[in-house]
Amino acid sequence: MDLYEYQAKELFARHNVPTQSGDVVTTHTDARASAERIDNMVVVKAQVKVGGRGKAGGVKLAKTPDEARDHAQNILGLDIKGHKVHKLLITEASDIEDEYYVSFLLDRTNRTFLAMASVEGGMEIEDIAVNKPEALARVLVNPLTGVDKAKALEIVTEAKFPADVADQVADVLVTLWDTFVAEDATLVEVNPLVKDPDGKILALDGKVTLDDNAAFRHPDHEALIDIDAEDPLERKAAEKGLNYVKLNGEVGIIGNGAGLVMSTLDVVAYAGDNFGGVKPANFLDIGGGASAQVMADGLDVILNDPDVKAVFVNVFGGITSCDAVANGIVQAIEILEANGPLNKPIVCRLDGNNAEEGRRILAEADQSIVEIVDTMDDAASRVAELAAAAA
Ligand code: GDP
Ligand code: MN
Repeated sequence: MDLYEYQAKELFARHNVPTQSGDVVTTHTDARASAERIDNMVVVKAQVKVGGRGKAGGVKLAKTPDEARDHAQNILGLDIKGHKVHKLLITEASDIEDEYYVSFLLDRTNRTFLAMASVEGGMEIEDIAVNKPEALARVLVNPLTGVDKAKALEIVTEAKFPADVADQVADVLVTLWDTFVAEDATLVEVNPLVKDPDGKILALDGKVTLDDNAAFRHPDHEALIDIDAEDPLERKAAEKGLNYVKLNGEVGIIGNGAGLVMSTLDVVAYAGDNFGGVKPANFLDIGGGASAQVMADGLDVILNDPDVKAVFVNVFGGITSCDAVANGIVQAIEILEANGPLNKPIVCRLDGNNAEEGRRILAEADQSIVEIVDTMDDAASRVAELAAAAA
């Protein structure tokens, strides 16, 4: 889960990373009131989970409360790279003498953690990496030993921080590493980390990605979830414990096992080419024990996606045999039809353990929206055809 800047800064504050708190507001009137309370020059910042807000006009300095209100009015509702601005962070503005970049992240390629630091902060880190790679220090961090003051000084030296800030930046790096570890983050990034005219170091921006797999260790992180910004179907699927990812196409896909579902995505995309470019609408793995309730939960999520025009249920019977899955499908449809008739076609392909019996059960139930197709390729082609016809 990516956090908003204001949430990242809340976590920073918890771990003593020097930063400024402020007010989160959703109206220009509240923005003005906040600026009045701060009673100094403020910065009005769009809260969207995307970088480059400054360049997009989402970060503005204001000398007076009225100016803060006017900026707020302009920034609220702004579209920044597809993210609409609903919230603003109002903080006291800092005078900037120098801008730096620091981050810790999970380095999957090297199977360890990585520190990155540069004295050329402020601009997009991707630009530094491409145009001036020598200005971006990369230092591997051993997860067992982490970042103590000595390791932090190694990073600072590698990035050639000026002597007058080196010690302070090293201290900040240690607190930032504390944040990274204690909160189970996969990324903490500060860009810019600034030096003010008094020589004080401050995190002016913050980007944090939390490891969702560690969520169970952090009951307090649940409060950071932005329910409004989440896809309601993804939310519903997560509540039911389903492995669901929304995609952009028209064919809903349910399968048992991540490998099967992934190859199903491929065959559907391939077959879809013959029907005007029909594509998978989602990834949904119902796992091993495809009970009626799990199947009903899965179908419920997928059939409620307005983009879905037809559904492909692709099951390979293993430990759970096909007759059990077939009964699951039949009952799932009965469960869902109790709330009104279903009208999207469902193409079922059963193979593997007890496939014959599974197909017989589906055929016998004779549910009008269900079509049985014997092979995966033929089923993919048929569901693509049905989706194209309904689109
Ligand atoms: P981003 O563009 O999404 O990365 O947003 P940032 O929070 O990094 O802000 C963009 C730029 O606005 C920074 O690099 C600064 O140059 C400037 N900025 C942000 N906050 C302040 C502030 O308090 N004072 C001053 N003078 N400039 C600021
Ligand atoms: Mn930034």
